[in-house]
Amino acid sequence: MKKLLSQFKKKFSNYMIKRMIKRSGFDSDKMFNIELCRGAKRCSRNVIDVTEVNKLIQNTLKESRIAPRLHKKLVDEEYILPHHMFKLAISGCVNGCSKPQIKDFAIVGQLKPKIQEDLCIGCQRCLSTCQEDAIMLNDEEPDIDFDRCIFCGDCVKACPTEALTIKKVGYQIQVGGHLGRHPHLANIVTDLSDLEELMKILNKAIKVFVEEGEGQERLGVTLNRLEMDLD
Ligand code: SF4
Ligand code: SF4
Ligand code: SF4
Repeated sequence: MKKLLSQFKKKFSNYMIKRMIKRSGFDSDKMFNIELCRGAKRCSRNVIDVTEVNKLIQNTLKESRIAPRLHKKLVDEEYILPHHMFKLAISGCVNGCSKPQIKDFAIVGQLKPKIQEDLCIGCQRCLSTCQEDAIMLNDEEPDIDFDRCIFCGDCVKACPTEALTIKKVGYQIQVGGHLGRHPHLANIVTDLSDLEELMKILNKAIKVFVEEGEGQERLGVTLNRLEMDLD
């Protein structure tokens, strides 16, 4: 009777822990968690389709069989907890509202502008809009300093003519951020990458996390230990 009671207690406690973890947004059946910014619903600053990128990322994670591979690796752990899972974020623009800087892998939407001088009416709205002071007027014509530009796309939205338009929309990839005892902000692996490059780097990151990570090690710690880059 005592043995049965203890078995029941253990099962119940396992069930409650799983439920608590699921409620906090982590699912041990999936073994990953993607935090999305409000851009997934509606945000005027969005430069990428957060919902679409989320679908593609989820498919890649499932195809990689991250869940069974991690379960196999963590077979000796009593419980699967949030810190065992692969943490991701997608932000619709460089404001990074889904906290990409503290995730194992994060995607941030970027927009590179281009200028067609003959359409410029010299209103200077782009100058006052750019928070990075990346736009200046040269002989009444705007010029962008791409060493300062962070590809937010604000100037394109502010321009009343078609003088500023989209040169490229792409993804900034950030890898290796985490909190904990020794917090570390993610490193930027690439700017303005396309989908193919994004998927290539994501697959590399999954491989390192699953195959090289020791115990509860975050991806950033593993990469640091192995002195490895993902680009
Ligand atoms: S990251 Fe950009 S698109 Fe997403 S909610 Fe924040 S401001 Fe909006
Ligand atoms: S994209 Fe953003 S940072 Fe770059 S020039 Fe335009 S407003 Fe400035
Ligand atoms: S906002 Fe457009 S039209 Fe106005 S100065 Fe800038 S590029 Fe020219």
